[in-house]
Amino acid sequence: MSLEVVVVPCLEDNYAYLLHDDDCDGGHVALVDAPDAAPIHAALQQRGWTLSQILLTHHHHDHVQGVSELVQHYGCEVIGAKADAQRLPPLDTVVSDGDHCQVGSLSAQVIDVSGHTRGHIAFVLPGKVFTGDSLMALGCGRLFEGSPEQAWAGLERLSALAPETLVYSGHNYGAANARFALQMEPDNQALQERQARIAALDAKGEPIVPVSIGEELATNPFLRPHSASIRASVKADANSPSAEVFGRVRAAKDKF
Ligand code: ZN
Ligand code: FE
Repeated sequence: MSLEVVVVPCLEDNYAYLLHDDDCDGGHVALVDAPDAAPIHAALQQRGWTLSQILLTHHHHDHVQGVSELVQHYGCEVIGAKADAQRLPPLDTVVSDGDHCQVGSLSAQVIDVSGHTRGHIAFVLPGKVFTGDSLMALGCGRLFEGSPEQAWAGLERLSALAPETLVYSGHNYGAANARFALQMEPDNQALQERQARIAALDAKGEPIVPVSIGEELATNPFLRPHSASIRASVKADANSPSAEVFGRVRAAKDKF
């Protein structure tokens, strides 16, 4: 089993991902999100690959606007959430929480991570998770369409993945996320180190993904409602439920 992931930077700060499975006869290439057809097309051409599938995390423009052009060119299958089918581009395959879809020789599990939008899904593959705008590198998406309780339920499920699972998320907001995270938890040493690493990667123009679930758990303020310093920062007491603390952290980030 070997799944190669190519990070394709798109637009200002989006990431799309090409998943190449060469265990599959003739090779199989899937794409997670289609922010812009041109750079994705170029990345495929450069490797002599063709596109078999597009997996969509959610309906926002900056994740789907390349779909029609790519479908026209490659005739690929488009997979997305049944719950949001009316707002997504035309889907060939609809999936819901708990479903599995075949990606080359591998099986991807779909989990519902609504909150940023209704019907936002993540795709879990062996050792990897593609989270779109739910869990982001050192952050999480703004809650446009869900309650803190709903969004927290999704983040809790992502947190429960094996700590070595690699997270591939939809954007590079790392530098801004790091500033906010340090305001929440100025003394978190793992966070200080991560900020330095993000700055170094940004300076070289390299992707800040992937990062392991374990590292997100140690540094991402949205996954750390149990942290005493975060509770102090958002004026929550020791008895506040995690979802409520998470909601306060998200509200603080909205104003940051
Ligand atoms: Zn979005
Ligand atoms: Fe986005």
